[in-house]
Amino acid sequence: MSIADNIKKLKAEIELVNVQLIAVSKTKPVEDVEEAYAAGQRIFGENQVQEMVEKYEKLPKDIKWHQIGHLQTNKVKYIAPFISLIESVDSLKLLQEINKQALKHNRIIDCLLQVYIADEETKFGLSFDEVIELLRSEEFAELKNVRITGLMGIATNTESEKQIKEEFYELRIFFSGIKQSFFRKEDSFKEISMGMSSDYKIAIEEGSTMVRLGSTIFGQRVIKHYKNLE
Ligand SMILES: *Cc1c(COP(=O)(O)O)cnc(C)c1O
Repeated sequence: MSIADNIKKLKAEIELVNVQLIAVSKTKPVEDVEEAYAAGQRIFGENQVQEMVEKYEKLPKDIKWHQIGHLQTNKVKYIAPFISLIESVDSLKLLQEINKQALKHNRIIDCLLQVYIADEETKFGLSFDEVIELLRSEEFAELKNVRITGLMGIATNTESEKQIKEEFYELRIFFSGIKQSFFRKEDSFKEISMGMSSDYKIAIEEGSTMVRLGSTIFGQRVIKHYKNLE
């Protein structure tokens, strides 16, 4: 199936149950994004800053760009003018830098806190305790140019559907607790970004509000390396 066919099929399936589709276009050429865009897709996820900036410059300006991978503090300034959602906030230091850059551009930047739910050592993210500590801190209370709109998590890369289901379930329960404790009055705290190509159906069953799909839309990725912006 073509990219356009995949988008149409997935949008129908996913948006029908009120879940947002994030098309993960990392490593894929601008032409692939254009094809998805022509099929109606408007939200795209990237994990490399330089690649996102290049695509942002070439593509229609009504695209909403999501940062989905680990973000280095020294790269925030490149995406601050236009980023729609940073899904991968994994430290207070990063959040402080996003706030600083957002202020420069007179914006409030929406962010998700990335929570570590997988049973793997390689994944970035905050532990449950670290999320609570961050949200309780005085430093966080001072940040006026970032808005936390929810949580993001990546499940373990495993064949065990039971394990994946449990990890997503834990994230959803944790989200509810955080909502109660810190964001009871804020309607904007409502997103649980969980689910990728291999596990998005389970994620939706467990209460995901946004799924991040790459290979299911664009086909398998060939790993590419991008030079650092400096
Ligand atoms: C690459 C990536 C995705 C998409 O992965 P697929 O398996 O191709 O759907 C989703 N989320 C994050 C954080 C990613 O880095």
